[in-house]
Amino acid sequence: MQISPTNQSQAVGIYVHIPFCQSKCNYCDFYSVTQVNRLPDYLNALKKEMYLCRTGDVRADTLYIGGGTPSLLTPRQMGDIVDWAAACFNLEASAEMTLEVNPATATTRDLQDYAAFGFNRLNIGVQSFNDANLKFLGRRHNAAQALEAVKAGKEAGFNNIGLDLIFGLPDQTTSSWKSDLLQAIRLAPKHLACYMLSYEEHTPLHADLQARRFEALSELRTADLFRMTHDFLGAAGYEHYEISNYAQTPRWRSKHNQKYWNFAPYIGLGPSAHGCRLPMRWWNHRSLDGYLNDLGQGRLPRADEEHLSEEQQMMEALYLGLRQTDGIVFKEFQKRFHSDFKLYFNKELDRFSVEGWIEMDSERCRLTVEGMLFLDHIVDQLVDMID
Ligand code: SF4
Repeated sequence: MQISPTNQSQAVGIYVHIPFCQSKCNYCDFYSVTQVNRLPDYLNALKKEMYLCRTGDVRADTLYIGGGTPSLLTPRQMGDIVDWAAACFNLEASAEMTLEVNPATATTRDLQDYAAFGFNRLNIGVQSFNDANLKFLGRRHNAAQALEAVKAGKEAGFNNIGLDLIFGLPDQTTSSWKSDLLQAIRLAPKHLACYMLSYEEHTPLHADLQARRFEALSELRTADLFRMTHDFLGAAGYEHYEISNYAQTPRWRSKHNQKYWNFAPYIGLGPSAHGCRLPMRWWNHRSLDGYLNDLGQGRLPRADEEHLSEEQQMMEALYLGLRQTDGIVFKEFQKRFHSDFKLYFNKELDRFSVEGWIEMDSERCRLTVEGMLFLDHIVDQLVDMID
């Protein structure tokens, strides 16, 4: 972890949440609604929000349009967002500009038009190359469309393509997950995000699990798939740089997402989006109505905000730092918290080391792959030691 002290000259990341989807996937708890006809109202409000957030001292070096389903926007609408972001946040010419797309709505023509607005990174929500898995997850696209979307991205000129995949589905075997990974690396994406399926409350999948309509994959088998992902992608030349994220080389890590993990400042726009500029953190209403209502009255659509105490910042630094294979850098920790990491957490670190969960050298402490499986437990133990 490179903890970034917030100062006025530091570049920020801009996240724009597009809160619309054609339908809801069974596992999804991201905020989005299916009333796509409200998109124009949303875009008017988004423009207002950007201009209300505008401050002279900001410059942005990343822009991430996520959702929801950003690929529901016409290229012109997407171009407007880029123009507003450039006008309000001094978007650097060399900024990393990521667009998330859903294979169900990605055409070569649209992707070409999006690329013309400066997007240089495409993140495709593939989730699986197996039709039965996609059906279980409630995705609108099939495996053939996922392959088409990657092809369309390449034809549109995107060199930096990332794929999102999900593992840990009920009954998933090592060989079925391996065939997803194999298909993914055949496409040579620069970035791969492999998320473990989780059953979030209020999702159809959670309800089905509660009703015992299927059985979740056991923790042991899910852990096997996690280890296998690390080994398989490592052997294919991908570096595992965050629990769920892999890059072909450090150059292709997600610069934007690293801001979240490194305490760098970011501004989130749209319903449910979060922002952070230490020591403050804030978040918008998780409701399109609440969002439109506040902006209609000329107010920022904040649901709440919090001032992070030094202690809270240290807890976050442990959790976010240990998610990354760069780990916690002692010098940075000392500079930020005026404490010696090794002395502070000495007792637990010894135990974790014996368990084989962490490795330390003179510069940093990081989790082993085995340790990543116990991240929450490890952080809880460390947090208990904070005065
Ligand atoms: S497309 Fe993405 S945001 Fe929309 S419901 Fe599916 S997982 Fe959620």
